[in-house]
Amino acid sequence: MGTGPLRRWLPKSSHRLHSAVKARQRRDDIWVPQSISNNAAQPDNTTVHLINAGFVHQPNAGVFHFLPLGLRVLGKIERLVDRHMRSVGASKVSLSSLSRQSLWQKSGRLSAGGELFKFRDRSRVDWLLAPTHEEEFTELVRLSGTLRKSTQLRLYQIGRKYRDELRPRGGLLRGKEFIMNDLYTFDSTPEAALATYDEIRTAYRNFFDDLGLPYAEARADSGDMGGSLSHEYHFPDDQGEDTVVTCSNCDHARNVEFVPTLARSITKLPNKCTKALADAASSIAVSRDFISEDKSTLVRVLVTKKGRSDTEAKSSINTHIVKAALLGYAEVDTGIQEEAARKIFFSTNPSLNQESEEGRLDPQRRIIYLLDKAINLEHFLADFELDECLGEVEAWVIHSSPDKVPDASPIDLRLPSKGDACPSCKTGVLNVQHTIEIGHTFHLGTRYSSKFGLAYLAEQNRLPTLYEMGSHGIGVSRLVAAAARLRAPTGKEKSWSLQWPKIIAPYQVAVIGSPESPDQIQANDQMYDALESTLIGSERLDVLLDDRAECSFGWKIADARILGIPIAVLPARKSGGKGWVVMCPTLEFEEDVQATEVPEIVQSLMERL
Ligand SMILES: [Zn+2]
Repeated sequence: MGTGPLRRWLPKSSHRLHSAVKARQRRDDIWVPQSISNNAAQPDNTTVHLINAGFVHQPNAGVFHFLPLGLRVLGKIERLVDRHMRSVGASKVSLSSLSRQSLWQKSGRLSAGGELFKFRDRSRVDWLLAPTHEEEFTELVRLSGTLRKSTQLRLYQIGRKYRDELRPRGGLLRGKEFIMNDLYTFDSTPEAALATYDEIRTAYRNFFDDLGLPYAEARADSGDMGGSLSHEYHFPDDQGEDTVVTCSNCDHARNVEFVPTLARSITKLPNKCTKALADAASSIAVSRDFISEDKSTLVRVLVTKKGRSDTEAKSSINTHIVKAALLGYAEVDTGIQEEAARKIFFSTNPSLNQESEEGRLDPQRRIIYLLDKAINLEHFLADFELDECLGEVEAWVIHSSPDKVPDASPIDLRLPSKGDACPSCKTGVLNVQHTIEIGHTFHLGTRYSSKFGLAYLAEQNRLPTLYEMGSHGIGVSRLVAAAARLRAPTGKEKSWSLQWPKIIAPYQVAVIGSPESPDQIQANDQMYDALESTLIGSERLDVLLDDRAECSFGWKIADARILGIPIAVLPARKSGGKGWVVMCPTLEFEEDVQATEVPEIVQSLMERL
């Protein structure tokens, strides 16, 4: 038993804030377990560095623990997200990661997702770990009934999400668990929802502007989300999975997967033709064959050569446009090689390979010719030898019909390449860049409100009217790795150093000292205090004091670089110096200065960073 004075419950009046207590952040006090070895699969380079530098730990492939330094970076991104979510009047919530499968059955997404983490509890209830929260938010808002009183609602959260990734090799960029900011918007009319959509896009652009990293906002397909309007936010990255096309002159920016509304028509060929068409095509055009998922349709895509070799012309075919142009007619499996596609089709249609009139043909089987916009239907019908047909099969042609649909684009089957003229402004040239996607905005319309019955009684006709929704997200944990990659050294430097954007760096300034004498300790503490009370905008500088006795100055300077702390301040070691040295490797700045000048110099460096 203790012998000290008995602790009593203290009266409320004696509660005081201990703000006078000095709480300097010392490097010694932060747990930075660098290079913990583990057996998990090797993720990407940046994640390896973040692991080695002690920001995160990977206990299993695709799973990460955030350690103190990583958590600081994450926390700063979250605070920045919070600020911009406040700017659009969004309320912060935190929904459970556990979602009942029945809810996903209702939205129709339960069967769609092979990457859903599903499980059953011991009461035999089926659950999943939510990869996104459209279902839960729609249901939450419906049950709350709050929308009956107001016409607009915006809710967001920053939380963990899950994806049963088969081969999680992307490190923090693509793990089984990830942290996301997701924002859901509810509006009573389509017009209001579109205005909201634009407002959210502006907020997202402001967020990425504040990060200070180069990014592109690109039109994108809404994929599984089922909306009609969607934008993505990308960082340039030569190893990135996505490709974004931007213009040198205007704001034209698109993911290559984005397909505009196509002005297309389908025409049945008068003759039953197969092989001859491809042969005839060879002089001016080249064809590439695909087969449909159900193997019933051979799709022969025709593009003009325009001075290119057959291989070049074939590899320039944009499979996203091919898929979109065939929508409603055939689902193309672009994973099957051309030779194999032909083999599958003709081997299951023996009559096509011989001039036999008795050959039986499955009436379901057909060939669809898909023409690039450069080959018009009249040209195709006139110049391609339609009379010389072998075998019998139904044949159709899908071609552009520019006048038919307003605001629709002709079928441009060519992948955009660097230097092409911009299709929007016609004067700029296109740049094609591999990227990493770090955010998206979706206008969902009534896809979820219709499934969950989220409606209100319209004033004019007292009829139930569905709410229009939007769903928007920023990959927060992905952003940690993507930001680190973006500023990664490009040369063959042996020692990796991080260059965090100043707004998310774990600390902004490292005061490096040694505790050799009481005078030095006092000088270090005073420098820390002076910098810590320096304002950058409306916020205090984020300072770390590294006065570890067991490490040399050189070691501590290198450590600050490895952690990505942009500015280091240390006592001048040379005799005759002014007292302190301020270093900022990113700006190639190093100067000998008086102690009193340090805060102002650091302030100006922070502005330039
Ligand atoms: Zn342009």
